[in-house]
Parts: sequence; structure tokens; C-alpha cells
Amino acid sequence: MRQTKIVLSDKEIPTKWYNIMADMPNLPKPPLHPGTKQPVGPDDLTPIFPMALIEQEMTQERWIDIPEEVLDIYSLWRPAPLFRAHRLEKLLGTPAKIYYKYEGVSPAGSHKPNTAIPQAYYNKKAGMKRIATETGAGQWGTSMALAGKLFGLDVTVYMVKVSYGQKPYRRIMMETWGATVHASPSNTTNSGRKILELDPNNSGSLGIAISEAVEDAATHSDTNYALGSVLNHVCLHQTVIGLEAKKQLELVGDYPDIVIGCCGGGSNLAGVAFPFLHDKIKGNRKDVRIIAVEPTSCPTLTKGEFRYDFGDVAGFTPLMTMYTLGHDFMPSGIHAGGLRYHGDSPLVSQLYHDKLIEAQAYHQRTVFEAAMQFANTEAIIPAPESAHAIRAAINEALRAKEEGKEKTILFNLSGHGYLDLQAYADYREGKLMDHEHPEEDIRKSLEKLPKI
Ligand SMILES: *Cc1c(COP(=O)(O)O)cnc(C)c1O
Repeated sequence: MRQTKIVLSDKEIPTKWYNIMADMPNLPKPPLHPGTKQPVGPDDLTPIFPMALIEQEMTQERWIDIPEEVLDIYSLWRPAPLFRAHRLEKLLGTPAKIYYKYEGVSPAGSHKPNTAIPQAYYNKKAGMKRIATETGAGQWGTSMALAGKLFGLDVTVYMVKVSYGQKPYRRIMMETWGATVHASPSNTTNSGRKILELDPNNSGSLGIAISEAVEDAATHSDTNYALGSVLNHVCLHQTVIGLEAKKQLELVGDYPDIVIGCCGGGSNLAGVAFPFLHDKIKGNRKDVRIIAVEPTSCPTLTKGEFRYDFGDVAGFTPLMTMYTLGHDFMPSGIHAGGLRYHGDSPLVSQLYHDKLIEAQAYHQRTVFEAAMQFANTEAIIPAPESAHAIRAAINEALRAKEEGKEKTILFNLSGHGYLDLQAYADYREGKLMDHEHPEEDIRKSLEKLPKI
């Protein structure tokens, strides 16, 4: 019988995370304080982050030990399976081998608990009682709620009001895991109250929710803030994905020619790709290609500029060097909510700038077409975000067919789509729109960026 799943035992969960800052040809420029525009030191971050995470944000140590307590919880779903997509390959008639790492097996249904768990652990160890965070459609909020529950931390989630109303299921998951969920803008913070005074019907945005969560954390000494993507320590935690995938491919005597991940803030791409980039930078595997895939309607890498920008709409966070569309760029309401971010991880941005990562952008209809091909062959209904990686993988497999080359393709299936089924209904009913890259909006938004 042919092998479809490549699985590792609990003992083979990686015991160290890989830190690409040890090997990058150029490190990102230092983050700057939003007020003084001077480099941020550890002390600037202690009001909202525990020291262990601040150290991970800055260190150039190559390997970081994963605490035993974190490994115990990882073992609830890790090692995640690696699949060979035999049926999809057959549908495409490609000589390429397609493998996918499936992160949808986590309790929250995506890769995000890989970082929520250690973030909760380090905060608990630092004596925190509570985490305040934001969520859009709810993927990050559910992951943080789960992590808080497992380490005995209270979790307060500011959920963008429009999603709070329209997408009740992830809210119910968060509440089931004991979190308190506020529709944002809320009455619990100054920034929320200010917005509600001006506009009682404000439907919220991720930027507003971040402002509320940061304010909550900064004004309560027993409360810290947690972010689900973008930051260096988040990318670090996600490298368990690629480290496992590498071992799994070794078991079948394979190594990828192409590694693909969808890219919102960049963390799942970083997770699957950084361990392979290590080989590429070290010259062992010079020709492995890494591809970041984004929506055409939020084309951060493919159309953005590489410069200092804020991580949030309000301009509260440190300024970081990244590819950005401008922090007040408002992407259209595509279904892949997790990819609607104006910026990108400084690590992924720097590596893209240095041409170690490529980027592609796709419209959502062609993305859903790929999602349907995947669902009808491999059986898993993918998250709309993950389907961007599937689109790119299928295109690369079809190119291999044209060229008659036996390529090995690995992509990360960052999550399942069982809480995003409305998107599939809309696709099938012909209601999905393709949004052109709004050059004019991007230009206007970029003009407003701080000049550093
Ligand atoms: C949040 C999310 C993403 C996008 O975030 P990254 O930090 O770019 O990985 C991708 N896929 C899924 C399933 C998500 O929940």
C-alpha cells in the first residue's frame, strides 16, 4: 500500500525552536518607539510583555529550548501529520510530488496555538493573572482562550464588533474555554468609549481592537498583551511546523524544491519555511524556493513598500521595518480574514527584501477554485487563508507538468475551514467578488506614513 500520512511519535516533537536571526544575512533594523522614534529597549516593552518573550524577540541564539510544560501541551495534537496529496496529484496529472503539513489538527483548528501556548506559559511564569488580546474573525482569540485555560490565566478578548455579530461560533469556542469576549469598540476601555461617543454604531476594526487590548494590558499590572503573528517570537514558536516537516520528509527520503505558505502577518509561512531557509542560507540547499502567498486585495509583499510603519491602525505599537500598504490601508472584505493585514513580519519582510523568499498574489475566486479541488480530492475543507497556499502549490505542480519535471512541493495547510463555511456557500452561489489591487488607495495610505 502506498503511504499517505507520514507521522511522528510524541517523542519526536522538536525540543528546540529555530531562530532564523542567527543566520540571516541582514537583520531587520531595530524597532522604534512610536513617540520618540528612538530604538526600543527591553524596558519599553515590559508593561505589556514578559521578559522571556522580550528576550526571544531580540536574541540571536540559534536554538531556543521549548519548555517541558509547553511540550506536554503540544503533545495534545503535535506532531502534526504530513500528508502526500496523491489524489490531488492524480487530478492534476502532474509528475510533481505534493506534500502538505496539516495544522488544522490543533484544538483551535489552526497553527495559532503553537505560539499561544508558549505565550501563556511565559506570562504565567512571570506572575501574570490575565491576558488581553484582540481578534478579528476569532482564530487568534480562540487559540489564546485555549492557552489561557490550560495554564490558568484569565483571557479577555476584544473581538471586532462586526465579526462578533456575524460569526458567533468562534466566540462560543472562546467562551467555552472560559474567556471573556467584548465586542469592540467596547465600553471597558478609554479608546473604546471615545469611539462609541463619536459613533455609537461603529462596527469596529482590528486596529481599534488592538488599541483596546493594549490599553487594557498597559493599565493593569496583572495583565499582559499577546499578539498572534508578525513579531519575531511568534515566528520563532511556529518553527515547530517546519522542523517536524523536515523530519517527516527525511523518513520518506525526500526534500522539497518548493516550500509554500499563505502570508497574512507571516507566522505560518515563517513556521514552515525558516527551517528550510536555514539550509538555503548555509548553502546546503541553495535552490530551494520559498513562496509567500497573499490575496490580490491585500498585496503587502507584492505591492507594498519596505519601510518603517506601525503595527496597528492607531499608531500605538513600535515602528518596525516591513513591507506595508500603510497602517490605515483598509483591505476589502474578502473571506480570508486572517490575510487582511496591512503589514508583514519584519523577519519575513527582510528575507523577501534580500530575495530569499518569493511572493505571489491571487484573487479570491481562483483561490476558492483551488480550495474546491483540494476538498474534493484530499477531503479536508481548507481555511480560506490556507487555500492561497493550495492555489500556489497547484500552479507550481501544473508548471512541473508542462516542463515534465518531477518537483517536490511542500505547502502548509495552516487550518481547516469548518468555521468558514459561509465563504464556501458564497463561492458556490457566485457571490464572491475579485477585488483589483487598489493602487490608488495604497499610494494614498503610503503617503501618510511617518518619514524616518
Ligand atoms: C491567522 C491565520 C493565517 C494568517 O496568519 P499568519 O501569521 O500569516 O500565518 C493563516 N491561516 C490561518 C488558518 C489562520 O488562522
